Amino acid sequence: MMIRPKGGGKKMGHTLLEVRDLKKHFKVKSGILHAVDGVSFTVEEGKTIGIVGESGCGKSTLGRVILHLHERTDGQIFFNGEDISDVSHSKLQELRSDMQMIFQDPFSSINPRKTVSSIIGEPMKIYHTCSSKAEYREKVLDLMNTVGLESRVYNDFPHELDGGKRQRIGIARALAIEPKFIICDEPVSALDVSIQAQILNLMMDLQEARGLTYMFITHDLSVVKHISNDICVMYLGTAVEKSPTNELFQMPLHPYTKALLSAIPIPSLHHRRKRIILKGEITSPVNLKKACRFAPRCVYATDRCHCEEPELREVRPGHFVQCHYVEEINCGAASQDR
Ligand code: SF4
Repeated sequence: MMIRPKGGGKKMGHTLLEVRDLKKHFKVKSGILHAVDGVSFTVEEGKTIGIVGESGCGKSTLGRVILHLHERTDGQIFFNGEDISDVSHSKLQELRSDMQMIFQDPFSSINPRKTVSSIIGEPMKIYHTCSSKAEYREKVLDLMNTVGLESRVYNDFPHELDGGKRQRIGIARALAIEPKFIICDEPVSALDVSIQAQILNLMMDLQEARGLTYMFITHDLSVVKHISNDICVMYLGTAVEKSPTNELFQMPLHPYTKALLSAIPIPSLHHRRKRIILKGEITSPVNLKKACRFAPRCVYATDRCHCEEPELREVRPGHFVQCHYVEEINCGAASQDR
């Protein structure tokens, strides 16, 4: 099954989520671990932002801080125009009904001792959204139908289903209290490629039908190509490149993004992409010094890169890159159209 092209989505133009200079540091034995270190972006209602990077780059922590599952160290979070950086417990409960999460491993994120219907319906019980058992059953069956689960698995247990069906349970559960915004944390990386396509198509259909806004976290750029309007590439807690998706795939400008893209196979017998193999040690995220975090792995690094942290700069309209030498590396491509 192919992943279908992303539709235009609803043209709403209203910013649903804004993250400003968000930081999350953890105290560890050897010092301060900079998990998220000054990330900023906006997501319009009905659109998707892809957050991409290797394991350990801080992308999942970023999602958890936005949902208040981790307390932020600094920075601000706005939802629907309201500053939600610091919220009371009751406001947090209200927010959780608008902001939901779909996890990577559908099996470990759902309770194996509960039936399909009780897993999907649990949020409705917590938020008291049904006035009778009949209404509850009807809503659960409706959600199962929405995500393509047959009604006959209503009383089944998760271990009786395959990975794709278990992820459909996770999606139905996230939709149960009709959120506006869903953080999808590697939702298809544990699934076979053919099932990945089914789940991605389902998520895009749901987005169009319900005007959902997604933050899609993944290590795989080829997955977000199909679902995201914008992409933010993270490296060691910071955003190194941010751009509309098409632009990023046509003109990646940061050396790290180029390496990530070079790893995506081209489905053609006649064309091959030259794979960029990154060498060098990954900088420790603990007690970071003022330098480009990518410098130990970058073939263009100079002395300046090892002692001066580059800023995230807009080098083409809507295209931001964190690199001192982005224009030189890309031979002027970075400054076209300005
Ligand atoms: Fe490479 Fe220097 Fe640019 Fe960092 S600032 S990506 S080390 S050229």
